[in-house]
Amino acid sequence: MLIFCRKDLSGAERKAILEEARRAGFLAQEVGSHRISLFGEGDVSPLLAMPGVERVAPRPEKAGLAEREEGAAPRTSPVTAGGISVGEGFVVIAGPCAVEGRSRLLELAHAVKEAGADLLRGGAYKPRTSPYSFRGLGREGLEMLAQAREETGLPVVTEALETRDVALVAEFTDVLQIGTRNMMSYPLLTEAGRCGKPVLLKRGMCATLTEWLWAAEYLLVEGAPGVILCERGIRTFSSSLRNTLDLSAVPAMQERTDLPVIVDPSHGTGWAPMVPAMARAAAAAGAHGVMLEIHDDPDRALSDGKQAVLPVDLEGLVRTVREIAALVRVADETREA
Ligand code: PEP
Ligand code: MN
Repeated sequence: MLIFCRKDLSGAERKAILEEARRAGFLAQEVGSHRISLFGEGDVSPLLAMPGVERVAPRPEKAGLAEREEGAAPRTSPVTAGGISVGEGFVVIAGPCAVEGRSRLLELAHAVKEAGADLLRGGAYKPRTSPYSFRGLGREGLEMLAQAREETGLPVVTEALETRDVALVAEFTDVLQIGTRNMMSYPLLTEAGRCGKPVLLKRGMCATLTEWLWAAEYLLVEGAPGVILCERGIRTFSSSLRNTLDLSAVPAMQERTDLPVIVDPSHGTGWAPMVPAMARAAAAAGAHGVMLEIHDDPDRALSDGKQAVLPVDLEGLVRTVREIAALVRVADETREA
Protein backbone atom coordinates (compact mmCIF):
# COMPACT_ATOMS: atom_id res chain seq x y z
CA MET A 1 0.00 0.00 0.00
CA LEU A 2 1.00 3.62 -0.39
CA ILE A 3 -0.01 6.46 1.90
CA PHE A 4 -0.58 9.71 0.03
CA CYS A 5 -0.07 12.56 2.48
CA ARG A 6 -1.01 16.21 2.16
CA LYS A 7 1.62 18.27 0.36
CA ASP A 8 2.02 20.52 3.42
CA LEU A 9 2.61 17.58 5.75
CA SER A 10 4.52 18.70 8.84
CA GLY A 11 7.50 16.85 10.27
CA ALA A 12 5.53 15.95 13.39
CA GLU A 13 2.63 14.60 11.34
CA ARG A 14 5.00 12.49 9.24
CA LYS A 15 6.65 11.05 12.32
CA ALA A 16 3.27 10.19 13.84
CA ILE A 17 2.12 8.47 10.62
CA LEU A 18 5.31 6.42 10.43
CA GLU A 19 4.95 5.37 14.05
CA GLU A 20 1.31 4.42 13.59
CA ALA A 21 2.12 2.45 10.43
CA ARG A 22 4.74 0.46 12.29
CA ARG A 23 2.34 -0.11 15.21
CA ALA A 24 -0.23 -1.39 12.70
CA GLY A 25 2.27 -4.04 11.61
CA PHE A 26 3.69 -2.50 8.44
CA LEU A 27 7.23 -1.90 7.39
CA ALA A 28 7.03 1.77 6.37
CA GLN A 29 9.36 3.68 4.06
CA GLU A 30 9.18 7.34 3.07
CA VAL A 31 9.05 8.14 -0.64
CA GLY A 32 9.70 11.80 -1.36
CA SER A 33 8.35 14.32 1.10
CA HIS A 34 4.73 13.24 1.25
CA ARG A 35 4.33 9.59 0.41
CA ILE A 36 4.95 6.50 2.53
CA SER A 37 5.19 2.96 1.18
CA LEU A 38 3.83 0.18 3.35
CA PHE A 39 5.04 -3.40 3.15
CA GLY A 40 3.59 -6.47 4.80
CA GLU A 41 0.15 -7.04 6.24
CA GLY A 42 -1.64 -4.69 8.59
CA ASP A 43 -4.72 -2.63 9.24
CA VAL A 44 -4.79 0.69 7.39
CA SER A 45 -7.92 2.08 9.03
CA PRO A 46 -6.17 3.87 11.95
CA LEU A 47 -3.87 5.50 9.38
CA LEU A 48 -6.75 6.88 7.34
CA ALA A 49 -7.92 8.91 10.31
CA MET A 50 -4.57 10.56 10.93
CA PRO A 51 -3.93 14.26 10.27
CA GLY A 52 -1.93 14.71 7.12
CA VAL A 53 -3.16 11.51 5.44
CA GLU A 54 -5.11 12.05 2.24
CA ARG A 55 -5.68 8.46 1.20
CA VAL A 56 -4.17 5.00 1.22
CA ALA A 57 -4.10 3.06 -2.04
CA PRO A 58 -2.29 0.08 -3.53
CA ARG A 59 1.29 0.86 -4.48
CA PRO A 60 1.17 2.09 -8.10
CA GLU A 61 2.16 -0.28 -10.85
CA LYS A 62 3.05 2.54 -13.17
CA ALA A 63 5.01 5.74 -12.77
CA GLY A 64 1.96 7.89 -12.08
CA LEU A 65 3.74 11.24 -11.82
CA ALA A 66 5.76 10.72 -14.98
CA GLU A 67 3.14 8.86 -17.02
CA ARG A 68 -0.03 10.37 -18.32
CA GLU A 69 -3.23 9.05 -16.85
CA GLU A 70 -5.02 6.49 -18.98
CA GLY A 71 -7.33 8.23 -21.43
CA ALA A 72 -6.16 11.77 -20.54
CA ALA A 73 -5.49 14.15 -23.42
CA PRO A 74 -1.80 14.88 -24.07
CA ARG A 75 -0.69 18.22 -22.68
CA THR A 76 3.05 18.82 -22.49
CA SER A 77 4.32 20.00 -19.07
CA PRO A 78 6.78 22.72 -20.05
CA VAL A 79 9.96 23.01 -18.03
CA THR A 80 11.19 26.53 -17.40
CA ALA A 81 14.83 27.31 -16.87
CA GLY A 82 16.40 30.75 -16.95
CA GLY A 83 13.48 32.20 -18.89
CA ILE A 84 13.41 29.42 -21.50
CA SER A 85 10.48 27.07 -21.66
CA VAL A 86 11.29 23.55 -22.82
CA GLY A 87 8.20 21.87 -24.20
CA GLU A 88 6.80 24.96 -25.92
CA GLY A 89 8.31 25.48 -29.33
CA PHE A 90 11.57 23.78 -30.22
CA VAL A 91 14.65 24.31 -28.06
CA VAL A 92 18.27 23.92 -29.04
CA ILE A 93 20.82 23.16 -26.36
CA ALA A 94 24.39 23.40 -27.62
CA GLY A 95 27.92 23.59 -26.31
CA PRO A 96 31.06 21.58 -25.85
CA CYS A 97 31.04 18.08 -24.44
CA ALA A 98 33.34 19.22 -21.65
CA VAL A 99 34.29 22.62 -20.30
CA GLU A 100 37.97 22.68 -21.22
CA GLY A 101 38.95 26.17 -20.16
CA ARG A 102 37.62 29.69 -19.72
CA SER A 103 38.42 31.37 -23.03
CA ARG A 104 37.38 28.40 -25.15
CA LEU A 105 34.10 28.01 -23.26
CA LEU A 106 33.31 31.72 -23.55
CA GLU A 107 34.01 31.68 -27.28
CA LEU A 108 31.84 28.63 -27.79
CA ALA A 109 29.09 30.11 -25.61
CA HIS A 110 29.02 33.24 -27.76
CA ALA A 111 28.87 31.06 -30.87
CA VAL A 112 25.94 29.16 -29.35
CA LYS A 113 24.17 32.44 -28.66
CA GLU A 114 24.88 33.85 -32.11
CA ALA A 115 23.65 30.67 -33.76
CA GLY A 116 20.28 31.24 -32.11
CA ALA A 117 20.39 28.33 -29.68
CA ASP A 118 18.53 28.60 -26.37
CA LEU A 119 20.67 26.93 -23.72
CA LEU A 120 24.35 26.27 -23.21
CA ARG A 121 25.63 22.82 -22.34
CA GLY A 122 29.06 21.77 -21.10
CA GLY A 123 30.26 19.13 -18.67
CA ALA A 124 32.31 20.02 -15.61
CA TYR A 125 32.05 16.47 -14.29
CA LYS A 126 32.58 13.97 -17.08
CA PRO A 127 31.78 10.26 -16.91
CA ARG A 128 34.57 8.65 -18.95
CA THR A 129 35.12 5.05 -19.94
CA SER A 130 38.84 5.27 -19.22
CA PRO A 131 40.00 6.73 -15.92
CA TYR A 132 42.93 8.28 -17.83
CA SER A 133 40.63 10.40 -20.00
CA PHE A 134 39.83 14.03 -19.18
CA ARG A 135 37.27 13.97 -16.41
CA GLY A 136 36.33 17.64 -16.28
CA LEU A 137 37.31 20.74 -14.36
CA GLY A 138 34.83 20.26 -11.53
CA ARG A 139 33.98 23.39 -9.56
CA GLU A 140 36.22 25.57 -11.74
CA GLY A 141 34.27 24.39 -14.77
CA LEU A 142 31.01 25.29 -13.05
CA GLU A 143 32.32 28.80 -12.39
CA MET A 144 33.23 29.15 -16.06
CA LEU A 145 29.73 28.07 -17.05
CA ALA A 146 28.30 30.68 -14.70
CA GLN A 147 30.46 33.34 -16.37
CA ALA A 148 29.32 32.17 -19.79
CA ARG A 149 25.71 32.50 -18.67
CA GLU A 150 26.45 35.97 -17.31
CA GLU A 151 27.99 37.08 -20.62
CA THR A 152 25.51 35.50 -23.00
CA GLY A 153 22.31 35.27 -21.00
CA LEU A 154 22.04 31.60 -21.98
CA PRO A 155 20.78 29.27 -19.24
CA VAL A 156 23.14 26.41 -18.52
CA VAL A 157 22.75 22.63 -18.51
CA THR A 158 25.45 20.58 -16.83
CA GLU A 159 25.79 17.10 -15.39
CA ALA A 160 26.14 15.90 -11.83
CA LEU A 161 27.79 12.52 -11.53
CA GLU A 162 27.65 11.94 -7.84
CA THR A 163 25.21 12.48 -5.02
CA ARG A 164 27.74 14.55 -3.09
CA ASP A 165 28.13 17.02 -6.00
CA VAL A 166 24.44 17.64 -6.63
CA ALA A 167 24.05 20.67 -4.34
CA LEU A 168 27.14 22.35 -5.78
CA VAL A 169 26.15 21.70 -9.38
CA ALA A 170 22.62 22.92 -8.63
CA GLU A 171 24.04 26.15 -7.23
CA PHE A 172 25.61 26.96 -10.61
CA THR A 173 23.34 25.42 -13.19
CA ASP A 174 19.84 26.15 -14.47
CA VAL A 175 19.15 22.53 -15.43
CA LEU A 176 20.87 19.58 -13.80
CA GLN A 177 21.75 16.78 -16.19
CA ILE A 178 21.70 13.10 -15.28
CA GLY A 179 23.68 11.14 -17.82
CA THR A 180 22.89 7.84 -19.47
CA ARG A 181 25.20 5.89 -17.19
CA ASN A 182 23.43 7.21 -14.13
CA MET A 183 19.83 6.89 -15.21
CA MET A 184 19.58 3.99 -12.83
CA SER A 185 21.64 5.51 -10.01
CA TYR A 186 18.64 5.79 -7.75
CA PRO A 187 20.29 7.60 -4.82
CA LEU A 188 21.61 10.17 -7.32
CA LEU A 189 18.13 10.58 -8.81
CA THR A 190 16.71 11.09 -5.33
CA GLU A 191 19.24 13.80 -4.56
CA ALA A 192 18.76 15.43 -7.97
CA GLY A 193 14.99 15.46 -7.46
CA ARG A 194 15.48 17.38 -4.21
CA CYS A 195 17.93 19.98 -5.52
CA GLY A 196 15.33 22.52 -6.58
CA LYS A 197 16.42 22.68 -10.23
CA PRO A 198 14.75 21.04 -13.23
CA VAL A 199 16.48 17.89 -14.40
CA LEU A 200 17.44 16.76 -17.89
CA LEU A 201 17.25 12.99 -17.67
CA LYS A 202 19.06 11.09 -20.35
CA ARG A 203 17.80 7.66 -21.29
CA GLY A 204 19.95 4.86 -19.96
CA MET A 205 21.74 3.27 -22.91
CA CYS A 206 20.13 -0.06 -22.08
CA ALA A 207 16.90 1.25 -20.59
CA THR A 208 13.39 0.48 -21.74
CA LEU A 209 10.93 3.33 -21.98
CA THR A 210 9.23 2.08 -18.83
CA GLU A 211 12.49 2.08 -16.87
CA TRP A 212 13.15 5.61 -18.12
CA LEU A 213 9.74 6.72 -16.88
CA TRP A 214 10.37 5.14 -13.48
CA ALA A 215 13.66 7.07 -13.29
CA ALA A 216 11.68 10.26 -13.97
CA GLU A 217 9.28 9.22 -11.21
CA TYR A 218 12.21 9.16 -8.76
CA LEU A 219 12.86 12.81 -9.62
CA LEU A 220 9.25 13.92 -9.57
CA VAL A 221 8.31 12.23 -6.31
CA GLU A 222 11.12 14.18 -4.66
CA GLY A 223 9.65 17.42 -5.97
CA ALA A 224 11.77 18.14 -9.06
CA PRO A 225 10.34 21.33 -10.58
CA GLY A 226 10.47 19.79 -14.04
CA VAL A 227 11.94 16.88 -15.96
CA ILE A 228 13.14 16.94 -19.56
CA LEU A 229 13.66 13.51 -21.11
CA CYS A 230 16.54 13.13 -23.55
CA GLU A 231 16.91 10.23 -25.99
CA ARG A 232 20.63 9.80 -26.62
CA GLY A 233 20.95 6.46 -28.32
CA ILE A 234 20.88 2.92 -27.03
CA ARG A 235 23.02 -0.19 -27.33
CA THR A 236 21.96 -2.57 -30.06
CA PHE A 237 23.65 -5.26 -32.15
CA SER A 238 24.58 -2.57 -34.65
CA SER A 239 28.19 -1.50 -34.36
CA SER A 240 28.18 0.93 -37.27
CA LEU A 241 27.86 3.97 -35.01
CA ARG A 242 28.60 4.73 -31.36
CA ASN A 243 24.95 4.16 -30.43
CA THR A 244 21.65 3.51 -32.17
CA LEU A 245 19.58 6.66 -31.91
CA ASP A 246 16.09 5.45 -31.07
CA LEU A 247 14.00 8.18 -32.65
CA SER A 248 10.88 6.09 -32.28
CA ALA A 249 11.24 6.75 -28.56
CA VAL A 250 10.09 10.32 -29.22
CA PRO A 251 6.53 9.57 -30.38
CA ALA A 252 6.43 6.46 -28.18
CA MET A 253 7.20 8.49 -25.07
CA GLN A 254 4.82 11.23 -26.12
CA GLU A 255 2.09 8.58 -26.15
CA ARG A 256 2.83 7.90 -22.49
CA THR A 257 4.06 11.08 -20.88
CA ASP A 258 3.54 14.84 -20.86
CA LEU A 259 7.20 15.47 -20.01
CA PRO A 260 9.09 17.16 -22.86
CA VAL A 261 11.24 14.80 -24.90
CA ILE A 262 14.39 16.04 -26.61
CA VAL A 263 17.05 14.22 -28.64
CA ASP A 264 20.84 14.20 -28.48
CA PRO A 265 22.07 13.23 -31.96
CA SER A 266 25.70 13.84 -30.93
CA HIS A 267 25.94 10.92 -28.52
CA GLY A 268 23.24 9.15 -30.51
CA THR A 269 25.56 8.79 -33.48
CA GLY A 270 29.01 9.62 -32.14
CA TRP A 271 29.98 10.97 -35.52
CA ALA A 272 29.74 14.62 -36.59
CA PRO A 273 28.79 14.00 -40.26
CA MET A 274 25.68 12.13 -39.06
CA VAL A 275 24.58 14.75 -36.53
CA PRO A 276 22.75 17.23 -38.82
CA ALA A 277 20.64 14.50 -40.45
CA MET A 278 19.63 13.01 -37.13
CA ALA A 279 18.95 16.44 -35.61
CA ARG A 280 16.63 17.16 -38.53
CA ALA A 281 15.04 13.74 -38.09
CA ALA A 282 14.50 14.46 -34.39
CA ALA A 283 12.61 17.64 -35.27
CA ALA A 284 10.58 15.72 -37.84
CA ALA A 285 9.77 13.05 -35.24
CA GLY A 286 8.17 15.72 -33.08
CA ALA A 287 10.88 16.15 -30.43
CA HIS A 288 10.68 19.25 -28.26
CA GLY A 289 14.31 20.03 -28.95
CA VAL A 290 17.82 18.79 -29.55
CA MET A 291 21.07 18.83 -27.64
CA LEU A 292 24.18 19.29 -29.78
CA GLU A 293 27.87 19.11 -29.01
CA ILE A 294 30.12 21.65 -30.71
CA HIS A 295 33.86 22.30 -30.71
CA ASP A 296 36.08 24.71 -32.61
CA ASP A 297 38.93 22.19 -32.89
CA PRO A 298 37.35 18.72 -32.78
CA ASP A 299 40.63 16.90 -33.44
CA ARG A 300 42.05 18.30 -30.24
CA ALA A 301 38.91 18.18 -28.11
CA LEU A 302 39.43 16.62 -24.70
CA SER A 303 36.29 14.55 -25.10
CA ASP A 304 33.92 13.46 -27.87
CA GLY A 305 35.66 15.39 -30.65
CA LYS A 306 34.45 12.93 -33.28
CA GLN A 307 30.86 13.94 -32.74
CA ALA A 308 31.42 17.69 -32.41
CA VAL A 309 29.83 20.01 -34.96
CA LEU A 310 31.85 23.10 -35.86
CA PRO A 311 30.53 26.39 -34.46
CA VAL A 312 30.34 27.80 -38.00
CA ASP A 313 27.90 25.06 -38.95
CA LEU A 314 25.64 25.54 -35.97
CA GLU A 315 23.61 28.51 -37.18
CA GLY A 316 22.43 26.79 -40.35
CA LEU A 317 21.57 23.65 -38.44
CA VAL A 318 19.60 25.58 -35.80
CA ARG A 319 17.64 27.34 -38.54
CA THR A 320 16.87 24.11 -40.37
CA VAL A 321 15.72 22.15 -37.32
CA ARG A 322 13.48 25.02 -36.28
CA GLU A 323 11.95 25.16 -39.77
CA ILE A 324 11.25 21.44 -39.65
CA ALA A 325 9.80 21.68 -36.14
CA ALA A 326 7.53 24.52 -37.30
CA LEU A 327 6.26 22.41 -40.21
CA VAL A 328 5.54 19.52 -37.88
CA ARG A 329 3.66 21.84 -35.54
CA VAL A 330 1.51 23.19 -38.37
CA ALA A 331 0.81 19.64 -39.56
CA ASP A 332 -0.19 18.58 -36.02
CA GLU A 333 -2.44 21.62 -35.57
CA THR A 334 -4.10 21.04 -38.92
CA ARG A 335 -4.75 17.40 -38.05
CA GLU A 336 -6.20 18.32 -34.65
CA ALA A 337 -8.45 21.08 -36.05
C1 PEP B 1 26.92 14.37 -22.06
O1 PEP B 1 25.88 14.83 -22.52
O2 PEP B 1 27.88 15.06 -21.79
C2 PEP B 1 27.04 12.91 -21.82
C3 PEP B 1 28.03 12.41 -21.11
O3 PEP B 1 26.06 12.21 -22.40
P1 PEP B 1 25.53 10.72 -22.13
O4 PEP B 1 25.25 10.63 -20.66
O5 PEP B 1 24.32 10.66 -22.99
O6 PEP B 1 26.62 9.81 -22.59
MN1 MN C 1 29.93 14.14 -24.85
